[in-house]
Amino acid sequence: MKRGLTITIDGPAGSGKSTIAKLVARRLNYLYIDTGAMYRAVTWKALQEKIDLKDEEVLVRLAQRTEILLKKAGDGLEVYVDGQNVTGEIRLPQVTNNVFYLARLAGVRERMVKLQREMGEEGGVVVEGRDIGTVVFPRADYKFYLDASLQERTRRRFEELRSQGHKVELNEIGEEIKARDGEDKGRRIAPLKIAEGAIVIDSTEMRIEEEVSAILKYIREN
Ligand code: C5P
Repeated sequence: MKRGLTITIDGPAGSGKSTIAKLVARRLNYLYIDTGAMYRAVTWKALQEKIDLKDEEVLVRLAQRTEILLKKAGDGLEVYVDGQNVTGEIRLPQVTNNVFYLARLAGVRERMVKLQREMGEEGGVVVEGRDIGTVVFPRADYKFYLDASLQERTRRRFEELRSQGHKVELNEIGEEIKARDGEDKGRRIAPLKIAEGAIVIDSTEMRIEEEVSAILKYIREN
C-alpha cells in the first residue's frame, strides 16, 4: 500500500528547491529526498580516490560499488558514503564544480535512478533534483518546477555560502551557477527541463513561506 503521494520538485541551481522541498515534506510529514546529494556523494568519492574524471568506465564502476545512504536528521538529511558522514564535505566547491563529470554518464544515472526509485516507491515523499519529474517519477502525483532569475539565484547561493562561513565572491558564484545551468540543461541524458504536467513556479519575487503555501494549496485543491 502507498504511504502517501509522490511529489517531485525540479529546477536549476539556487532555485530554492532544497529549502522548499524540506518544508513541504515537513508540513505533510513526508520523507524528503535530495537527489543532488547523491550525485555529489559519488563525486566526493571519486575525488577522494583521485580518479581521472574523464575515465567514464571507472566512474560508472565507482557509482555501482558506492553505498549511499540518506538519513533523516531533524528537518534535513545526513549523507553517508560507505558508512562515512560526508554531509558537509559534499557541499564544498570542489565537489560542486565537478559533479557534471558524473551526472552526464548514463551508467551513473542508471544506478542513481534505481536507488531513488527504491527510496520513493512507497510514496509519502518529496523528491528534489533535475530529472525527477521527467525520468525518475514521470507518473508522480504532483510535479513542480521551481525557477528564479539568475541574479536572484546567485544572490541566494552567495548568502547561503556566506552564512556558512565560506569566503566567496558574488561574480564567481554567478559564473558557477551559469556554468552548471549550461551543463544540466545541455547534457544528452536526462537534461534539466520542465516535466510534462509540471506546475512552474517563478520564485524570484516570492518569499519562502509563500512558495510553500502555493505548493500546498495546489495539492489541496487539485
Ligand atoms: O541540487 P544540487 O545542486 O545539489 O545538485 C548538484 C548537481 O548534481 C547538479 O548540478 C546536477 O549536475 C546533478 N544532479 C543531477 N540530477 C539530479 C540532481 C542533481 O544531474 N536529479
